[in-house]
Amino acid sequence: MKPISRRAFLAASASAVAAPAVAGTRQQPGMLDAIIVGAGAAGIAAGRRLAAANKRFLIVEAAERIGGRCFTETQTFGAPYDRGAHAVHTPDINPVAKLAARAGLEVYPAPGGEKLRIGRRDARTNELEDYLATIVRANRAIGDVARAGKADVAAAQALPKDLGDLRPSVEFYLGPHTCAKDLAEISAFDLARSAERDVDGFCRQGFGALVTRLAQGLPVQLATAVSNIDVNRRGVELRTSKGYLTARGAIVTASTGVLNAGKIRFEPELPRRYGEALGKLTLGHYEQVALEFPGNPFGLQSDDLIFEKASGPRTAALLANASGGSLSLVRIGGTFARDLAREGEDAMVAFALEWMTSLFGSQAKQAVKRTHATQWAKEPWVLGGFSAAAPGGQPGRRALMEPVRDRLFFAGEAVHETQWGTVGGAWESGERAADALIRRIGR
Ligand SMILES: Cc1cc2nc3c(=O)[nH]c(=O)nc-3n(C[C@H](O)[C@H](O)[C@H](O)COP(=O)(O)OP(=O)(O)OC[C@H]3O[C@@H](n4cnc5c(N)ncnc54)[C@H](O)[C@@H]3O)c2cc1C
Repeated sequence: MKPISRRAFLAASASAVAAPAVAGTRQQPGMLDAIIVGAGAAGIAAGRRLAAANKRFLIVEAAERIGGRCFTETQTFGAPYDRGAHAVHTPDINPVAKLAARAGLEVYPAPGGEKLRIGRRDARTNELEDYLATIVRANRAIGDVARAGKADVAAAQALPKDLGDLRPSVEFYLGPHTCAKDLAEISAFDLARSAERDVDGFCRQGFGALVTRLAQGLPVQLATAVSNIDVNRRGVELRTSKGYLTARGAIVTASTGVLNAGKIRFEPELPRRYGEALGKLTLGHYEQVALEFPGNPFGLQSDDLIFEKASGPRTAALLANASGGSLSLVRIGGTFARDLAREGEDAMVAFALEWMTSLFGSQAKQAVKRTHATQWAKEPWVLGGFSAAAPGGQPGRRALMEPVRDRLFFAGEAVHETQWGTVGGAWESGERAADALIRRIGR
C-alpha cells in the first residue's frame, strides 16, 4: 500500500467531512472551522448554531447513535421508551421544548403535583402537605447556607435537624432524585443555585426522539471516538478512531465522567484549574427500571409521579403509565443506585418489583410483562448519570466556560451554572460555546 503522509491525511479527511456542513457553499479542502466532540444535546445545539452561521464543521460521535443521555428507542417495548432524560423541565422556557412543534413533535404539560404513598395507601391531604412543606423547608435551609455567604458545605450538613420520620424521603427527593448523588456528597451552593425543575412537560414521541430530530441535516460522523486533542496557535488537531481532523476550534461536550476517566488527552495538558473543576463535577448515579404493566392494574393516572414515605435509602420514584401507555419508570439514584446497578439488571428489576409490591400489593410481580434496566454508569462514552458538584465545586461550572487558548471550548450539562444535569442546560451550554467560537473565528 502506498504510504500517506500525516499532512495529506489531515487535508483529505478535513475536505471529505466538510461537505455536509457547507451545503450550498463552495467546498474547500483544508481546515474546518470547528469540530464538535459528541452528538448529545449540547453537541447538537452547538451544531445548529454553527450551521446557522454558515460555518464548516463536523460533529464526531463515539457511539453508533445520536443523542447521548437523551435516547428514545422503540425496540424493547414496541413503543417510545426514554432510557435517559424523559422530563422536559420548565417547558415554557426550555429551549428544546420551544423547537418541538416546528420539528413535528408534541411536548405536552405533565399533570403537575406529585403523590406520596405511605405503605400501601395514598397519603392523606395533610400528610402530603406536611411532606411537601418539609421538602420546601429543607431546600430553604440549604439555600440559606449559600445566601449567608459562608463557606460551602455538603447539603446534608445544611439540613434542619428536626425532619423527623420524613428525613429519608426528603433526603431522597433532594439528593438521589434531584441530583443523582446523596446529600452528603453535594455542594449546598450547587443545589441552591439549581433552577426549579418542578414544572415538567413530556414529549409524546420521546425526549430522545425530539433531540435526534433536531439533529436532522447536521454533519455527524458516528462511531468515531476522539482520543487526543492538540491545541495550538493555528487551531486544533484531533486524533480519532478513524484518523486525524483539524479545525480552527473545537467544542468538547463529552461528560465529566469521560473527561475524568482520561479518555480524551489534551496537548498541552489542560491548565490545572480545568482538572480541579472536573474533579469536583463528577457524575452521580441515576438509573431506571422500566416495567411494562398492560391494562393499568394499579389504576394509576397517566404520568403520575409517585414517591413513598421511605424508611431509608432503598427507595425510588415512580413515573406511572408514561404518556398514557403501559410503561412505568422506577428511578433510583445516588449510592443506592450505584450499588444496585453493580449487581446487574436482574437485581434492579427484582428491587423495582418488590418496591412496587410494597406500594401497590402483590399483583406487581404477576402483572409485569417486559422489563428493562439501564446501566448508564457502564455506558463507555457516558460513565454515569449527571453532574452534581462536590462541596466547593460550584464555581467549576463557570471555570469550564473559559476557552482554552481561545480554541477549545467545553459544553454539556456540567457547564451550566443553574440548569446542570438537564437537557435544557446542556442545550444552552452548547449554544453558548458555539457563539463564543464563532466570535473567535470571526476575529
Ligand atoms: C437516567 C437519566 C435520566 C435523566 N432524566 C432527565 C430528565 O428527565 N430531564 C432532563 O432534562 N435531563 C435528564 N437527565 C440528564 C440529561 O440526560 C443530560 O443532562 C443531558 O442529556 C446531557 O447532554 P450532554 O450533551 O451534555 O451530554 P451527553 O448526552 O453525554 O452527550 C455527549 C456525547 O459525547 C459523546 N462522546 C463522549 N466521549 C466522546 C469521545 N471521546 N469522542 C466522541 N464522542 C464522545 C457521547 O457518546 C455522547 O453522545 C437524565 C439523565 C439520565 C442518565
